Amino acid sequence: MTKKEKIAYFAALSSFIGLFENMIPTPIPIFRIGLSNIPVCLGFTIFNFYESFFIVMFKTVFSHLFRGTLFSYPFLIGLTGSLFFILFAYPFYKISHKYTSFVSLSLFGAFFHNMGQILTAFLFIPPKAIFYFGIILITIGSIFSFINGIICNIIYNRIFRRFFMDDTLFIQKGEDLQCVLCPNYCVLKDEQFGLCHIRKRQKDKIFNPYSGIISSASIDPIEKKPLYHFLPKTSIYSVGFFGCTLKCQFCQNHLISQVTPDEDIHKVSPNEMLNYLMKNKLSSIAFTYSEPTLYFEWVLEVAKLCKKNNIKTILVTNGYLNPKPASILLEYIDAANIDLKSSKIEFYKKVCFGKIDPVKEFIKIAYQKKVHIELTTLVVTNTNDDIEECKEITDFIASISKDIPFHISRYHPQYKFTEPPTPLGTINSWITEAKKKLNFVYGGNISELGNTYCKNCGELLIEREYYDILIKNLSNDGKCKKCSEFNNFVM
Ligand code: SF4
Repeated sequence: MTKKEKIAYFAALSSFIGLFENMIPTPIPIFRIGLSNIPVCLGFTIFNFYESFFIVMFKTVFSHLFRGTLFSYPFLIGLTGSLFFILFAYPFYKISHKYTSFVSLSLFGAFFHNMGQILTAFLFIPPKAIFYFGIILITIGSIFSFINGIICNIIYNRIFRRFFMDDTLFIQKGEDLQCVLCPNYCVLKDEQFGLCHIRKRQKDKIFNPYSGIISSASIDPIEKKPLYHFLPKTSIYSVGFFGCTLKCQFCQNHLISQVTPDEDIHKVSPNEMLNYLMKNKLSSIAFTYSEPTLYFEWVLEVAKLCKKNNIKTILVTNGYLNPKPASILLEYIDAANIDLKSSKIEFYKKVCFGKIDPVKEFIKIAYQKKVHIELTTLVVTNTNDDIEECKEITDFIASISKDIPFHISRYHPQYKFTEPPTPLGTINSWITEAKKKLNFVYGGNISELGNTYCKNCGELLIEREYYDILIKNLSNDGKCKKCSEFNNFVM
């Protein structure tokens, strides 16, 4: 074998080895979803340790075979190239995570790896040999790496990805992605929006492009959420968004819940939100007005920051969220007002275009997670106002806890519904019926908000007139001052 033949032989073989060694970027996407950046970086390092070992092993054999020739350099090249790659692992991950798809991720990996080898080749190879070694070998290696990157990604995307994806927000469904945030389970093609018109697929992810866009913000009495047993007589900073996972035809907030915002509106980052709360000494925040769970990532991030800074978090929601994201989010939520719109499957299906069971499941999860919950039913004229519905709803609530406060709210014609406002008599008969099974029942959207009486001795604990709240015989730890009974208050 001539010297040139040896070089060509080594170049081809080294490239072949490169085919395997550059499979290393393949595990990167596996770590991309579901783990935070630091474990990803550690993962990189571990894989690169194996990679280094692999390169060192093979190239050392060559170094030995071709001792005294320029082929003894590959040992250093392989080792240094890998170190270079490790050095780039973290920033590479950050960049790729932000800007690239799964497919380009491996190509990025291959690129950086080979850049490392090219640089080290130039560092260690005598100038004369650069033509033979530096150019030919690295070019062939890079081409192989590039092809390998594509092959690995196709194999990964087609076969392995579904096993490693974090299935909290979306999953692979054949060629498409399926959103699993809410029970609508939209299957989306690239650039397609879901039924909510808020969450969208873009390449290999489904996300909310409007994350951080706020429709309205104000400081409200907490009773307005409505929450009567959580931090009574306090004010809460309330932020609203756009969109909803349901399509209730009587929606009282349809001007924000059934529209899509302009993507150019200023987006508030979770940190900006926290800074605002801290600066203004606001001790609680409500995610409300539209359906906040559509802004899952943003709300979760803000809620985490609030938890760290002792700011209470409140979710006002339709409860139409799947168990996995619900469990994750509720870990960081202190209180929730959840709509239970009806006891009927048909009502949810025909009037809201949804299902009732996931809502009941959400309520149970929230209760199990020890989130302070209060429930609300909007009683819609000639639609869900039958007293039988009231019995079924209160049975369900009582099966969880008789102490869950229940708000029976008056409807006004909105959106596509023209039925007249709920007669006050209907609200009152619902209140009377619900009180047979539940300890704390209140009217909503009516002038009489309802007082709270001790469930044990009947003492007046809180008197409410409009939003004038008078705390009477309630101690600072939420007990009746007269008999010390706990009345499901968070003070
Ligand atoms: S959140 Fe939106 S995209 Fe996802 S399943 Fe629900 S309606 Fe569909």
